[in-house]
Amino acid sequence: MRIVAAELSHETNRFSVVPTDLTAFERSGIHRGDDMIAALRETATPIAGFLDAAEKHDFELIPLLAVWATPSGMVTQEALETLLTELLRGIADAGSVDGILLGLHGAMVAEHHSDADGYILRSIREQVGTGVPIVATLDLHANISQEMVDDANLLIGFDTYPHVDQRERALEAGDAIVQIIKSELEPTPALVKPPMMPTSQNMATAVEPMRSIIERAIRIEDAPEVINVTVAGGFPPADVEECGFSVIVTTDNDPGLAATLAWDLANFAWKKRDEFLGGVSSWDEAAAALRAIESGPLVLVDIGDNPWTGGPGDSAELLRFLLEQQASSAAIALIKDPESVKRCIEAGPGATVELSLGGKIDRLHGDALEVSGYVQTISDGRYVNAGPMHAGVGVNLGPSVVVNVQGIQVLVTEHAETPIDLNIFRRHGIEPTALQVIGLKGKGHFRASFEPIAERVLLVEGPGITGAELSRLSFEHVRRPIWPLDLDAEFERPDDPLDGDSA
Ligand SMILES: [Zn+2]
Repeated sequence: MRIVAAELSHETNRFSVVPTDLTAFERSGIHRGDDMIAALRETATPIAGFLDAAEKHDFELIPLLAVWATPSGMVTQEALETLLTELLRGIADAGSVDGILLGLHGAMVAEHHSDADGYILRSIREQVGTGVPIVATLDLHANISQEMVDDANLLIGFDTYPHVDQRERALEAGDAIVQIIKSELEPTPALVKPPMMPTSQNMATAVEPMRSIIERAIRIEDAPEVINVTVAGGFPPADVEECGFSVIVTTDNDPGLAATLAWDLANFAWKKRDEFLGGVSSWDEAAAALRAIESGPLVLVDIGDNPWTGGPGDSAELLRFLLEQQASSAAIALIKDPESVKRCIEAGPGATVELSLGGKIDRLHGDALEVSGYVQTISDGRYVNAGPMHAGVGVNLGPSVVVNVQGIQVLVTEHAETPIDLNIFRRHGIEPTALQVIGLKGKGHFRASFEPIAERVLLVEGPGITGAELSRLSFEHVRRPIWPLDLDAEFERPDDPLDGDSA
């Protein structure tokens, strides 16, 4: 049995002014062939799960391509076509194959295809025909389209946020494709999309409302006739028609059951929609929390400029706030500012520098902050995540410096990245557990590493395009009505669910 494996993923924020070109993908590292196995074998990623499946079932895995880019603006036509052409050629060159395993995100938007993941799946399907099964993993923030469902035999989404189960879900995909190839399974999926588009600050799967929704999904999966239940919270700033919450139930040759179960679970999520609101503290509440620190650290997370939601990463608002509050024993990850990095490297370790920090990429993430500090550390910005999320995965921040501004240690980098791992500080000589205050940019992934060491976690929302305030974004393409943009949106199952909904 010969099965091709590849990953091609991006989460696209249409409100970002930073286009996602080929260079952006290259920066994250494009792995091909044997290098893909060497680089990703021992990581908490889909490719590692596909390799686990190859070992378990003793099939030949043909590694083609693994590539992603940090969430940012629209994927350029050139970038997607270049990577997709390479993928299609690789599949053709592999000769006779029995199946295709893919790691997709599900919220990629390209200049020429708003449903880029659907386009990728359709392109592969058109090339290989219906005789070769395609099974893909999806991110929990996928905006799932009917086209994606139609062109894959089976889609399996991550069940966790932070996404710590990528490898396990990919192994599940590998288990399933083997059974599909042997004709032991006949997947019949039903996609149901309630008209809701929650933001993700309250989407962590360890807490409500997602805890109950995922628990219910897993209970449904226990039935022998159910192959998989996928719940995707969606990614609003992709601003595409398919934006929002999705449920896929895939049964073994029972479309009616799949539709009934999917509608039931979607309805369960719909009724809990209000629990996705809130969860963000005011700056006054953050100031009070600073004064109330006992052992520390207080983890303060700005969700307005989260690079993994497509924020530019160059907002200086957290630093502005901590300086105003005269915080000490604090560190911030991070502010993207290549100009300031260059000046600090030229000045050298220990030198005093005057910087106009951040606020350069657009006018949506606050102004630059004039600061005086000293260069504490200089690095190449490379480290490996300790995990649990993305354990073993290398990170490249580009040349980076820590600038010490009145006792606040600020990581300033060439590239934007969301801090999800303690090693982002340890790499730069900062021990996060010893701090009183940790300032991060993020939404939910930081929790896997930082929640266990935190005295308290608070989300705040500075200016930007990645937070919970959807009124800041001028949506043009999402289907309407949709909650919470339209509070009067309604959700009701059609009288005959088999009439068009489970086709
Ligand atoms: Zn995600």
